[in-house]
Amino acid sequence: MAKELVFGHQNPDTDAIAAALAASYYLNKKGLDTEAVALGAPNDETNFALKYFGVKTPRIIDKADTKEVVLVDHNEAGQSVSNIKDLTVTHVFDHHKIDFKTSAPLFYHAEALGSTSTILYGFFKKDGIKIPKDLAGMMLSALISDTLLLKSPTTTDVDRQVIKELAEDAEISDYDKYGLELLKAGTDLSKKSEKDLIDGDAKSFQFGNKTYRIGQVNTVDIQSVLARKDALKKEIETENKEKGFAGFLFVITDILNSNSVALYFGDDQTKIESAFNREFKDDVIDLPGVVSRKKQIVPPLTESFN
Ligand code: MN
Ligand code: MN
Repeated sequence: MAKELVFGHQNPDTDAIAAALAASYYLNKKGLDTEAVALGAPNDETNFALKYFGVKTPRIIDKADTKEVVLVDHNEAGQSVSNIKDLTVTHVFDHHKIDFKTSAPLFYHAEALGSTSTILYGFFKKDGIKIPKDLAGMMLSALISDTLLLKSPTTTDVDRQVIKELAEDAEISDYDKYGLELLKAGTDLSKKSEKDLIDGDAKSFQFGNKTYRIGQVNTVDIQSVLARKDALKKEIETENKEKGFAGFLFVITDILNSNSVALYFGDDQTKIESAFNREFKDDVIDLPGVVSRKKQIVPPLTESFN
């Protein structure tokens, strides 16, 4: 029988990949027969971690060919495999807002911790299952990535403790130093096309009865990304038209100073302004202190649009 597939969201980030690897390893120890896969190629940051810890890239799929699946680091159908509606979800491990429909009972663990990998660490610990060094390295990388090295407001005391324990399991003596290297590995945007930039880690959200897209890139130099505004605008407007998005918010985050600016093209610009209490100037809005899409961007937009 085919193994049950475990995967994170489309346009996977480091947590989507690492949490799939961790959940699969954990569930197999509990007697299931699962395989971690990815819904897209790993990004530069994730590739840095995979290489650093000598972990093989999971198989990439678009459709699941098993009946039963495990979701990690997401729960919304629009962020999942294309045939999610035909599948049975047996487990969810996640730290996002919940927009999930089910017709059968399942195991669902949601918790507002900094990363899904932090949540999974708790399961390993509870059951006394040892985490291999390479997997600990991936989970550590995911925690660092999702919390921007503990600087995001999504960071909890649990994350501050778990990062130390995972660093020990991964044999990383200085997680700050490793973390900065990891985050910087994801910020070389110069070789990327505008299409790569906007698609990189974009996710779809339903506000009212329309679909909006929110993308985010990490950088150490916001101005160098803003310098590409005209080309970004062209690409975003094409994508809105082709894929039917009502609007596209493209967030550019300075990981060193924990600030963002965003570009927006689409309907209802004033609703974005009222969500953040700021105005657009030449399609750019300043978002001081904002780094977290799930905690600082999606909630005010949800409120403003609904
Ligand atoms: Mn994620
Ligand atoms: Mn995550």
